[in-house]
Amino acid sequence: MDGDEFDDKKSHDETTTAAAAKATAALDDKLQEERKTLPIYQYRDAFLQAVKDHQVLIIVGETGSGKTTQIPQYLHEAGYTKRGKIGCTQPRRVAAMSVAARVAKEMGVRLGHEVGYAIRFEDCTSSNTVLKYMTDGLLLKEFGDQPDLAEYTVLVLDEAHERSLPTDMLFALVKDLARSRPDLKVLISSATLDAEKFSDFFDSAPVFKIPGRRFPVEINHTLAPEADYLDAAIVTALQIHTKEPPGDILMFLTGQEEIETAEQILKQRTRGFGTKIAELIICPIYAGLPTELQAKIFEPTPQGARKVVLATNIAETSVTIDGIKYVIDPGFCKKKSYNPKTRMDSLQVAPISKASANQRAGRSGRTGPGKCFRLYTASNYQDLEDNNVPEIQRTNLSNVVLILKSMGIDDLINFEFMDQPPPEALLQALELLYALSALNKNGLLTKVGKKMVGFPLDPMLSKMVVASDKYKCSEEIITIAAMLSVGNAIFYCPKDKRVHAQNAKISFHVGDVGDHIALLRVYNSWKENNFSRQWCYENYIQVRSMKTARDIRDQLEGLLEKAGIELTSNPNDVDAIKKCITSGFFPNIARLDKYGSYRTLKHPHTVHLHPGSGLAEVLPRWVVYHELVLTAKEYMRQVTEVKPAWLVEIAPHYYQMKDVDDPALKKMPRGVGRIGKELVCF
Ligand code: ADP
Ligand code: MG
Repeated sequence: MDGDEFDDKKSHDETTTAAAAKATAALDDKLQEERKTLPIYQYRDAFLQAVKDHQVLIIVGETGSGKTTQIPQYLHEAGYTKRGKIGCTQPRRVAAMSVAARVAKEMGVRLGHEVGYAIRFEDCTSSNTVLKYMTDGLLLKEFGDQPDLAEYTVLVLDEAHERSLPTDMLFALVKDLARSRPDLKVLISSATLDAEKFSDFFDSAPVFKIPGRRFPVEINHTLAPEADYLDAAIVTALQIHTKEPPGDILMFLTGQEEIETAEQILKQRTRGFGTKIAELIICPIYAGLPTELQAKIFEPTPQGARKVVLATNIAETSVTIDGIKYVIDPGFCKKKSYNPKTRMDSLQVAPISKASANQRAGRSGRTGPGKCFRLYTASNYQDLEDNNVPEIQRTNLSNVVLILKSMGIDDLINFEFMDQPPPEALLQALELLYALSALNKNGLLTKVGKKMVGFPLDPMLSKMVVASDKYKCSEEIITIAAMLSVGNAIFYCPKDKRVHAQNAKISFHVGDVGDHIALLRVYNSWKENNFSRQWCYENYIQVRSMKTARDIRDQLEGLLEKAGIELTSNPNDVDAIKKCITSGFFPNIARLDKYGSYRTLKHPHTVHLHPGSGLAEVLPRWVVYHELVLTAKEYMRQVTEVKPAWLVEIAPHYYQMKDVDDPALKKMPRGVGRIGKELVCF
């Protein structure tokens, strides 16, 4: 059972720590030598002098030159942690975690003590933490709680070139803060050379360049475009492995699923190789990768073997893996985009920019000459955009608008962004927050809005949690919120046991309760079974995701208390739970049309039930959905049936009777049936 398992883990941790402590002294020398070989090391003194001389400094150095791991250590060694902490932000949580682990090791301390990290839902720091790596989103949140960030003496906004939304917000906030806190040092660190823009924004702050060493990289383009880039990438990896001299391979893929597929295929195809061909060690890295597996990619490759790292664009600049000699670049990544017309966020696979392609290629030439295999033609390369569009210009802004409002920043139009967000997107964020009752007519934060800010969730989810007070079902709602926050990784379906897995999944959907309630049932059954691992196996549920959900749920429970919301349970009143979900997600309502697809109600647009939804065979007339995903079609994921009357009851400012009682809607199908395999509406 799980309780035992935790105890096991603890004693195991303690023994390994004792062993690690003994090993530290030996390790230290080697690591200290390694530190000295990094390009930044030669500039250590000049860098410290520049920090002393200037309050704000822009640092530019190629990926792998030692910015992220060394700068905070240099500052620590120079005494900047005597009176406070050094905070270093990363746009990606895996980067924050892995870099903190590395730095703790270099300093010979336990992770979570002097060196720690904090990401959403996970705080691995303690009162004696002086070097704190964290996601940019988290520092943004801390800004809200404590606007002078008094506990920090230095802030390093790292990976500035990524231009993630929270980092962009931090630029403006930190610039402002620096004026009122002359003792605060601000470092903006970037891997690209166009630092002028950062310098201009920060009142002509000086730029400190770390000259990189880069070895020549031979770039190969394909002669014709590849129809199936995943297959082409795998074939290329195997060709490198069988024909090219030693050196590890880095393959850029777009996400976890693709990486897992590639891993499986590579395993299958190398199985038949026999002993004549060297071992190929396959190491995946992506955002949701469990911590214990993250360390594996950094382990040195054993003599005679070759490593192939299957990575998302996290390996483009955020983490550096030593020993890479070959890069395989299919030319794609997942990009968030926001369509103001349909008011929809989507995550889509899209071509990368030239800047990204060059970064990727550069990963192969860090320690010696490298080779990059681009799975696109030279003319495709010429057609790529020069640079990535900053996230602020292509995303839903409701979350950051809420955070800024909570900081008392009301005039968003005149807020000093490095690049302005589209006014339309800003306006729509304000509209949504107003609809959720987080803002009043004057655009000021309401009581509800204040409560919502307390939860590290997107506004619609936090509204749902806040509304649970009214419906007396906060126990159920935080479970649902936690399960939704884990993402799409609760159920799994092994290819050889598809029928069993499907049946297990269906058992949670009995009564066509909808996907939200099914998630609640999964969690509660797991809990009733003592959080058992065995139970997860038997029900084709991912143990790891469940544990994450439990951690998130625990946190939300603590935050409920802070927000003054009572913990109440109403397990049998399914309608109350559904109404509560609707209170947060009423902008996401769709109704069935006669073709078996759906139309969104407010800004009409055709969408479909995701085939993975428990309601895919039921097709209810009115549904609320958690999110839209765009693949071949626009799919609603995590869907629950609602009654149209609730909309007018819950959101009278948003829907009127005519919206749900329009004569045109009389044409809505009355029911759904099946002719052969086809679902039809009548
Ligand atoms: P930069 O921030 O300039 O890109 P880093 O400080 O991240 O550079 O990397 C410097 C060195 O530290 C690299 O050689 C990299 O391989 C190593 N490194 C970083 N993180 C880890 C880790 N988690 N495990 C092992 N080595 C690491
Ligand atoms: Mg870095």
